[in-house]
Amino acid sequence: MKDLKLTGARPEGEKTVIEIAGVRVGEGLVVIAGPCSVETEDQTIRTAVAVKEAGAAMLRGGAFKPRTSPYAFQGLGLKGLKILDKARRETGLPIVTEVVDTRDVSWVGEYADVLQIGARNMQNFSLLREAGKSGKPILLKRGMHSTLEEWLNCAEYILAEGNGLVIFCERGIRTFETFTRNTLDLSMIPAVHSQSHLPIFVDPSHGTGILGMIEPMSLAAVAAGVDGLEIEVHIDPASALSDKDQQLTPAAFTRLMKKLRALRLFMDGLSGSDGPASESIPRARRSAEAFPDGMD
Ligand code: PEP
Ligand code: MN
Repeated sequence: MKDLKLTGARPEGEKTVIEIAGVRVGEGLVVIAGPCSVETEDQTIRTAVAVKEAGAAMLRGGAFKPRTSPYAFQGLGLKGLKILDKARRETGLPIVTEVVDTRDVSWVGEYADVLQIGARNMQNFSLLREAGKSGKPILLKRGMHSTLEEWLNCAEYILAEGNGLVIFCERGIRTFETFTRNTLDLSMIPAVHSQSHLPIFVDPSHGTGILGMIEPMSLAAVAAGVDGLEIEVHIDPASALSDKDQQLTPAAFTRLMKKLRALRLFMDGLSGSDGPASESIPRARRSAEAFPDGMD
């Protein structure tokens, strides 16, 4: 692909590892979990403790919620960020939270370890530039009607400001299918690995919107070589102020984490099984080899 000077795959296929408060993204499998929205201190901290215990590496939670209706819960704003800060101090988990407005990037960045740019803002170029200037790690969701090339170019906006800490996150796209909330496009995992040195995550919660599909799609993402997952978990999903139908209970999340660990171990065994020669080939390069000359 043209003009991806900074985002494009490296000639030797080296992958970028992004270190976030001791968590290495791009090595192994990193799971971000937590509520859709920060609602109360009790809800957030109890969820944070539960996801940490289950093995999550980072805590998510929205303090600024981009909602379809202006009358729906919009998030607690600064109060929500303060709650997240408290959850971080109690659990040690780094915080991932969305920023929706260019004017908020720098001060939200004082609370967040990772700034999330949501699907609805993927091509908000002013926001991307501000995110680039912030120097913070950015979780860049795929826009719901965006191509791979458009998505990669959005990362390029951030990198062009001197910030190389970008993580892609596939969260499903709009198609003619209406059974699922979105159509989760897992083909983006090998596609991003072949076209970029940056890590890619998958969000099966918004990607399907269906509780029973979160586990199979998470496992499928791991089988496809994903670098991490972002999963919504709520201490009491039935009472959630947003996305209550797609948030896992801590117990369901704990069961999922056990399966993810087992699958990941199996996958590591598979990549070791093609002999010592492959040991020295980073995973991204193996993906790049799967797409010989056809893609530039
Ligand atoms: C979210 O993760 O809170 C969110 C709103 O997701 P998306 O931007 O992918 O819809
Ligand atoms: Mn949500």
